[in-house]
Amino acid sequence: MSLDRDIREKLVRALAGSMIEHADELTGLDQAIGDGDHGLNMKRGFEAVLAALPGLADKPLPEMLKTIGMTLVMKVGGASGPLVGTFFMELGKALPEEASRADFVAATDKAITAVKARGRSDAGQKTLLDVLVPVQAVLAEGGDARAIVAEAMGAADRTIPMLAIRGRASFLGERSIGHMDPGSRSAALLIGAAIAALVSEANS
Ligand code: ADP
Ligand code: MG
Repeated sequence: MSLDRDIREKLVRALAGSMIEHADELTGLDQAIGDGDHGLNMKRGFEAVLAALPGLADKPLPEMLKTIGMTLVMKVGGASGPLVGTFFMELGKALPEEASRADFVAATDKAITAVKARGRSDAGQKTLLDVLVPVQAVLAEGGDARAIVAEAMGAADRTIPMLAIRGRASFLGERSIGHMDPGSRSAALLIGAAIAALVSEANS
C-alpha cells in the first residue's frame, strides 16, 4: 500500500470533512463531561490540515501523516491535539513508503504505544484509547473494512458506561458514567472516514 496522490488527497479531505461536519456533535459530548471544546479543537486542527492541501498530498504517505500530526499538535489546544497529533506523527514515522498490511499493523501498534506514553494512559480509562486499542486488535486479526468500522463505532459506544480515569472527565468521578467519551467518538469518526475514503477508492 503506497496510495497515489489522488487517494492521499481524498483521505485528507475525508478526515477533515468528518471533523468539520461533526464539530457540533463532538462539542455536545464534551459539554456533558468536559469543557465543551472538543468539536472546535478538532475542527480547528483539521481546517489547518486542509489549508496545507494541495501540497500536503504531494508528500509520500509517511511524510504526509507526520505533517498532519505536527499540524494537529501545533493548532489544537486541549489534550486531544497532542494525543491525536502524536498518533499521526508516530504512524508516519513507523510506516515505510510501500507499506504492507503487516507494516500497517506494526505501525499502528507503535503509534498507540506513543499515545499511551504521551497521555500516561491506557485502554479502560474512557479515552480515545478505548477506540484505538480494540480497533488495532481487529486490524491485527485481519478484520476487513466493515469489521474495523463496526469495531470503531461499537467501541465508542462502549465508553458510555465507563468511569473516566484520565482527562478532564475524570474530575467528574462517577458523574462521568453514562456519557460517551468525546475523544472516542472523534477517533471512531476519523477511522470511519479513512476507511470510507480508502474502500470507495478500491471499488471505483
Ligand atoms: P481538553 O480535555 O483539554 O478540553 P479535548 O476536549 O479536545 O481536550 O479532548 C478531550 C478528549 O481527549 C477526551 O475525550 C479523551 O478521549 C482524550 N484525553 C484526554 N486526556 C487523555 C489522556 N491522558 N490520555 C488519552 N486520552 C485523553
Ligand atoms: Mg475539552
